[in-house]
Amino acid sequence: MNRLLIIGPPGAGKGTQAVKIAEKLNIPAISTGDIFRKNIKEETELGKEAKSYIDSGNLVPDSVTNRMVRSRLAEADAAEGFLLDGYPRNPAQVTELDAILSDMGQQVDKVLLLVADNDELVQRLLARAAKEGRSDDNEEVIRHRLKVYAEETQPLISLYSQRGLVTEIDGLGEIEEVTSRIMAALA
Ligand code: AMP
Repeated sequence: MNRLLIIGPPGAGKGTQAVKIAEKLNIPAISTGDIFRKNIKEETELGKEAKSYIDSGNLVPDSVTNRMVRSRLAEADAAEGFLLDGYPRNPAQVTELDAILSDMGQQVDKVLLLVADNDELVQRLLARAAKEGRSDDNEEVIRHRLKVYAEETQPLISLYSQRGLVTEIDGLGEIEEVTSRIMAALA
């Protein structure tokens, strides 16, 4: 089944790959970061709640994030599968995702772990900052986001590994090359 997660540090290329893989599998790519950014742009209540956390590179509080994900996963297009990009991001969110899916009689089927070394990540993020001008892509915030990843998100890898769900994918190389590696891992 196609209830998939993609996990990896900021700059590993999760968002880019998530969109490509989801398209091939005909499931929605659900990026919590994208949903937050859209809400910030549209100045919604959710956007107002999330903005200061995002701009400083910290996680948005679980209460806000979990509610948002629960309602997104209840939408019709996610009924047959989804690829979650950027959620869960800490152990409490894993517990919540388990609960959301169990309420629907479902579970996570596979976790794609996209890896790249730290120097490569910082270079990529700085290049993206120059190109896209994301408010959380300056060097100080980038380093903080990498730290938050190491402290809060990395523990998820052993958690999902214990369930036998993790497939590690080398995130280095051309976009298409990485996409092929992921598709091979899913086959
Ligand atoms: P991303 O686009 O995945 O790098 O996310 C950008 C920012 O959105 C993160 O640095 C967090 O501030 C926030 N964010 C995204 N996903 C989550 C999540 N699952 N929990 C808390 N904050 C999140």
